Amino acid sequence: MAAMAAGGVVLGPAARRAEAIAEAVTRGNPAETRTLGKTGLRVMTVGVGAMTTREADVIRYAVDHGATYVDTADCYMGGENERIVGRALRGVRHKVVLASKVHIMDVPGMIRSVENSLRSLQVDSIDIMQLHGISSEGEVTDGRAREALQKLIDQGKIRVPGVTTHSGQETVLRAVQKHGFYKTVLVAYNFRSDTGITTSIKTALGLGKGLSAAIADVAASGIGVIAMKTQAGGYPVGDGGPSPHQAALAWVLANPGVAAAIPSMVSYAQVDENLKASGMRLSWRGIKTLARYEEVIGDRHCGLCGECSGRCPNGVDVAGVLRSLTYLEGYGRKALARDSYRGLGDAGAAACVSCTGCVVPCRLGLAVGRLTGRAHTLLA
Ligand code: SF4
Ligand code: SF4
Repeated sequence: MAAMAAGGVVLGPAARRAEAIAEAVTRGNPAETRTLGKTGLRVMTVGVGAMTTREADVIRYAVDHGATYVDTADCYMGGENERIVGRALRGVRHKVVLASKVHIMDVPGMIRSVENSLRSLQVDSIDIMQLHGISSEGEVTDGRAREALQKLIDQGKIRVPGVTTHSGQETVLRAVQKHGFYKTVLVAYNFRSDTGITTSIKTALGLGKGLSAAIADVAASGIGVIAMKTQAGGYPVGDGGPSPHQAALAWVLANPGVAAAIPSMVSYAQVDENLKASGMRLSWRGIKTLARYEEVIGDRHCGLCGECSGRCPNGVDVAGVLRSLTYLEGYGRKALARDSYRGLGDAGAAACVSCTGCVVPCRLGLAVGRLTGRAHTLLA
C-alpha cells in the first residue's frame, strides 16, 4: 500500500501540530502527503471523491497520477459507484487507501452491507469504513455500530473505523475525540463553511475559530480528518491564474488539521486541475480568487455550517435541502440531487412552497425560503 506506516515515531500533539503547520505554510511539491491521525496511513493531500465519477478510467487516471485516497459509498449511484471504483482499482488496489461507508442499523445488517461493499469493490478488505452522514453524539456512541465494525475489524474485512458528517459537524468531531473508537472523520469543509475567508490560514497560526479550529484541535489529538465538499459547489469558472477550485483546495489544506481533501472528479481535466493543488500554498492571490468566486455563488451556495439547524418551525432540514440543490446546480447531477432530496423524507422543503415568511436566519445571508422552495420545485 502506498499509504505507508509513519516511520514508527509517535509524536505528541504539539509536535504533530508544528509538523502540520510547517506542511501547510511551505510551498510543497506536487505530491504533498500527510498522515491520517494515528492510523499510520499516509496519503497525498488531494484524493478522489468518487461519488459522481461514472468512468472507471478517470479514477484510474487519478491513481496513475499520484492520488492515494479513493472514497466511495454503498449508496452512491444505487451501488454502481462501488462497482466503478472496483473496476478502476484492478491491479492498483495496493496503491491506495480505500474508503467506503455504511449506514447504522442492526449488527447483522451492517455486516451484510459491508460484505456487499467488499464484493462490489472486488477487494478482500476496505481500509476505512465510515458511518454514513451522522450528526449527533448518540450516533458516535451507538453500540450496534461499534459492535459490527469491531467484528469486521477482527475478521480483517476492514481496517479503520471512521465517520462522515455534513451536519452537526463540530458536535460529531468533538464526540469522536471524546469517546474514542473512531479514527477518522470526513467533514464537509470549504471556504464558505466558516467565519471568514482567511480562517484556515489563521487556524494554521493557532487563531482559528468555529469548525476550522475544531478540525485542527481534533486532528492534533490524533484523529484523521478528511475534507469533502471542498470546492463550494464546483460552479463553472473563468480562466487565468489559480482556478477557484485549486484555490479552494489550497484553502482547505491550509488548515493543518486536514490530512486530505477529496473533491469530486468526473473528467481527466478535473483530475489534472485538482491534483496540481496538492502542495499549493494558499496565496493572497488565491484568496482574491476565492473572494471573486464567492461573489458569483454567494446568493445560492450553502456553506453547510449547520447554524440554522432546528430553526424552521415546519421541520425543514435547510442544510440538507440546500446540499441537494448544490448537487443539481453546482455539480449538475440531477439523479444524485433527487436521491439526496428524497432521502430527507419529511424534512424536505414541501412546506416552503406555501410558506410566506421564512424565519430561518442564515449566517451567509442566503434567502433561505426562496432557495428551499426552488429546491422542492426542482427536485420533489
Ligand atoms: S420558508 Fe423557511 S420557515 Fe418557511 S417552511 Fe421553509 S425553511 Fe421553514
Ligand atoms: S443555510 Fe446558511 S446557516 Fe444554514 S447551513 Fe447553510 S450556510 Fe449555514
